[in-house]
Amino acid sequence: MSEIISETAQEAGVLDRGRPILIRKAHLITMDDRIGDLLGDVLVKDGKIAEVGRELVCESAAVIDGTDRVVIPGFVNSHIHLWQTVIKGCAGDWSFGEYLQHILGAAGKHYRPEDVRVATLLGALEQIDAGVTTVYDWSHVLNTPDHADGAIDALEQSGIRAVFGHGTPGDDVVKWWFQSREGHPQDIVRIRKTRLASDQALVTLGMSLRGPDYAAAEINRADIELARSLGIMSSMHLAAGVFGEYLPHCRAMGAAGLLGPDINLVHCNRLTDDEIAMAIDQGASISVTPEVEMQMGHGLPVTGRVQAAGGRITLGTDVVSSVSADMFSQMRFAVQSQRMLENSKAHELGRMLDRLPISARDVLNCATLQGAESLGMATRIGSITPSKDADLTILSWPPHQASPLADPVQAVVFHGSVANVETVMIGGRVHKFRHRPVGSAPAEGRQAAQIGMRIMAAAGFQPASRV
Ligand SMILES: [Zn+2]
Repeated sequence: MSEIISETAQEAGVLDRGRPILIRKAHLITMDDRIGDLLGDVLVKDGKIAEVGRELVCESAAVIDGTDRVVIPGFVNSHIHLWQTVIKGCAGDWSFGEYLQHILGAAGKHYRPEDVRVATLLGALEQIDAGVTTVYDWSHVLNTPDHADGAIDALEQSGIRAVFGHGTPGDDVVKWWFQSREGHPQDIVRIRKTRLASDQALVTLGMSLRGPDYAAAEINRADIELARSLGIMSSMHLAAGVFGEYLPHCRAMGAAGLLGPDINLVHCNRLTDDEIAMAIDQGASISVTPEVEMQMGHGLPVTGRVQAAGGRITLGTDVVSSVSADMFSQMRFAVQSQRMLENSKAHELGRMLDRLPISARDVLNCATLQGAESLGMATRIGSITPSKDADLTILSWPPHQASPLADPVQAVVFHGSVANVETVMIGGRVHKFRHRPVGSAPAEGRQAAQIGMRIMAAAGFQPASRV
């Protein structure tokens, strides 16, 4: 991607290296309990949030007018498979079985390193455009070390903050995903020692494990021990869908000391209440990806059960091949699916709810601060707090429409979309300004469709609507 930049951003001075940025008179949803929400200013210096308050002064700063705008901490998307970006939209009408057959069972083996790089780059840029400043990229198409390097190159090029979740190859679904007896690829040790040795860099390392649903128990233990020996977090899909008798793998992991704050569990729909309590007690985070869980039959989203147990819920978009890649959609699916469940329970008792069980603020917190906590980054990001890195998303609504700003939190959650994402900053660096990316469009955009069609043809499928 070239360094050609938006003239608007240049004129505003927000791209001047080293120059402070002052966002003035905005609705600030800080997600910091000590600061709360306020109509005020944010001063960004040296990539960090320097001050939050009213009537801040900084003579040298480039000023962003925040009037009628809402500033939130950048979204944290805790679960996405960016490699599927080039086949986006092929699987929206598929069941879980069809997805496993076509994507993990067939498409993965046809990815070249360059395909992974292009998909990851375009997916990461799409995330930034949608106001996401941090992703956990669950990358399980790493057929060779070059595939992993392609994904890391792309994340670094995009400028997004990311945990690169190193996963298994996508070349043999039976070998890697059917009670696998193969240990996690050792290439992750090379990456930890070389490219992603730092835990303070914009792109850091995590391990995307198969977990006990997809790998034998002793393999799962060895995988987690490998991640811990490298000092990195782990993430695994767990308890999604109905496949014969339910096996309480989460309880077994807890009893074996394998859960902890370094463990992120994804979906978890079938976990029993005692397993959820155990996971929370031992510090694990739980990623809910409600849209795809509803589509593919993973089960009911666990949002309410985790909230009731006092645990951290983080949100993710998951499979780009099937569902929307933006956090607005996921927030709305999460909050309204939970309300539907609670309303239905009340109906069964012949009554109506007096109050709703989960609020817009709750779910925005899941999409920001709790996401940061789940990735072990809450001291650096997740709220608009002085000394944290300046990862900020500014939203605006067109002046010719009725303003939704009666309640800025509800404006974001119920009336927000990618179209309302005006400005995005990661570590103080502006990536989107006044609705436009500041860099020129990447040449890779033109390759994406061709790559996707080649992979789908080689894998022997095409989207249902094209058949
Ligand atoms: Zn997933």
